[in-house]
Amino acid sequence: MNKESITDTTFVSKINKIKILNAVRNNGGSTRPEIARRLGLSLPTVTRLVDSLIHREKLIREKGSGAVERGRPPKLLEFSGDNHYVVGLSIGANHISGVLTDLNTRILARQDIPTRSSRGYRALIRSVARLILDLIRTSQIQDTDVLGVGIAIGGLIDKRRNVLQYSAVFDWKEKDLARDLGELVRKPIRFDHTARVMALGELWYGIGRRIENFVCVLWGYGIGAAFILEGKPVYGTHGMAGEFGHIPVAGHSAIRCQCGNYGCLETLASGWGIANTAKACLRQKAGGLLYQLCEKNPGRVTTRLVAQAAAQGDEMCRQILGQACEYMGMGLATLINLFNPQAIILGGGIMRSENLVLDRVIQETRKYSLRNLNEEILIQPVQLGDHCKTMGAVSLILDEVLNLNILHSPSGG
Ligand SMILES: [Zn+2]
Repeated sequence: MNKESITDTTFVSKINKIKILNAVRNNGGSTRPEIARRLGLSLPTVTRLVDSLIHREKLIREKGSGAVERGRPPKLLEFSGDNHYVVGLSIGANHISGVLTDLNTRILARQDIPTRSSRGYRALIRSVARLILDLIRTSQIQDTDVLGVGIAIGGLIDKRRNVLQYSAVFDWKEKDLARDLGELVRKPIRFDHTARVMALGELWYGIGRRIENFVCVLWGYGIGAAFILEGKPVYGTHGMAGEFGHIPVAGHSAIRCQCGNYGCLETLASGWGIANTAKACLRQKAGGLLYQLCEKNPGRVTTRLVAQAAAQGDEMCRQILGQACEYMGMGLATLINLFNPQAIILGGGIMRSENLVLDRVIQETRKYSLRNLNEEILIQPVQLGDHCKTMGAVSLILDEVLNLNILHSPSGG
């Protein structure tokens, strides 16, 4: 984090500039004297910093004049969020989604491509680079106006070294994503794991606008969580906080987790856990709707097929989903008892079957958590729906721009 001393004048200037930028952004149409009054700063200080925000950072501009009783009317200021752009990407097991937005988060272009991870890391990075360049081209904007690329990806990320240490989905180890992709697209790259990116999306554009303490849970092929406490994301010592899928919930379980342990929540409640349980059931006793849906080949069973069969009334699949919900409820109860959040937000592939799982999860969560902590808690799907990951990825860059951090491309450009 910031090592600068608060007595350092450049640091104080930067903090004041960020305050001014936010004041203009949140109250479009303020004048310099109004901002000076509101922030308790002198008018010459505000004038000097606003000049820099207009001419140097180009994040503020003048528009018309404010009302005045006599003399020259002061100019109105507004956030110029429509002349710089950000790319947000979500790299998932099955597809890669991308958006290009301006700093007002207006979406100018959007594109999805299938994830072809079997061709290896380099080929996948090249296809991601092509997607980024396609988004810029179809938006018909100047390449130089794109400030950076934010990415949501599943895996263990070492924030200290800024490397993807391990991704079970892609079977990658020690990948320097920012360097490798940055060299191809010549833009600053920021990435974080999907659950935290989702939480940042909700913090900036969703439930975070009215709630300060919440947990975002990614419930898909894997399981992860991210914590927003008092309006700030929690990273942990290495940036790896949130490995919620690996809390033990069934010590007696014989299913080995990808982490090497037994009884992890992920083995029992995640997408791969659900598909695994269903495969085992079919191998023990063939027949029923799921057996038809997988064309009598248990190896082809996916969570989607289990949900489809459950929706059509298949009892075995309903039980498998119900059991996954019970384990997820136990996990969420642990989070509630530990963190006392105001809300738990659920996103990810399993939540596409919200009507089959949400009520049951809420019921189990209430059963296993302390009543004093769960009485008023909200447990609900992500507000941004399918956009939560890409918009969260946009916020990885936006957050730095609005905090006036200078972004550097790996190419040095
Ligand atoms: Zn595990």
